[in-house]
Amino acid sequence: MKLYDGIIRQTLDTLQNKSVQKTPYRPELAWKDLGSSELVMLRDAAFELGGDGQPSVNYTCVTTDDTFVPDDAVLVYGPELSAVKGDVSFARITLLETDDLGEDEEAAYNTIRDLEFVRYHVFPEGYMVRVSSESNQEQVRVAKTAIRKGISLARVGCAYIRKYRELPGVRHVRVLFLTAQEEIAALRGNAKKVDDITKTLTHILDGLPTDCGHCSLKPVCDEVEGMREMHMAQKKKERI
Ligand code: SF4
Repeated sequence: MKLYDGIIRQTLDTLQNKSVQKTPYRPELAWKDLGSSELVMLRDAAFELGGDGQPSVNYTCVTTDDTFVPDDAVLVYGPELSAVKGDVSFARITLLETDDLGEDEEAAYNTIRDLEFVRYHVFPEGYMVRVSSESNQEQVRVAKTAIRKGISLARVGCAYIRKYRELPGVRHVRVLFLTAQEEIAALRGNAKKVDDITKTLTHILDGLPTDCGHCSLKPVCDEVEGMREMHMAQKKKERI
């Protein structure tokens, strides 16, 4: 599947000259996942990532191209949690390499939906995540106790990877965290593009006619490699 490859390329280009701390995934590094959300009160918080009006963004891209996601790893651009002293801008970007889904748009959609579920269902201890699926923002309140226990984005990222690796078809996962980086505002446009692609897939599955001349989704298909081919392949299948 190539639908998100353009966004992955743009993301990696934006970050290519930045210094990064890379932690290869090891399950034993994964920060404790509580299995359900925990309330961290403001008075118990060390700081908020993406809090106090700081820009934040969260998006997930799926690909079948292993050159984009060659291994399981957490990449941290900017200060680790132990070095953060107050509210800072924040991004969490997840890149997933999956088995080839071919041209089966329903399989592609179901895989994307399952992966979306994981995006919101990891609950690291002392790390309260609040997401806005509409604006694609993510705020995280980090507890002082968690800082004392040694929480890090590297270990939180490993908790996310562990959860993704439970899903069939997931080959590799990279979780990218950005803290206090000026590129975060620029990356917010990518989250909107990811949403547009997923919504277009939904419309295609709803039986949208293949009339590109009168289709409001044409700007998405003009930009996203593989989308038009996917719709045409689906229509062909319906006719058989
Ligand atoms: S292929 Fe054409 S009809 Fe189908 S979603 Fe894209 S623009 Fe619309």
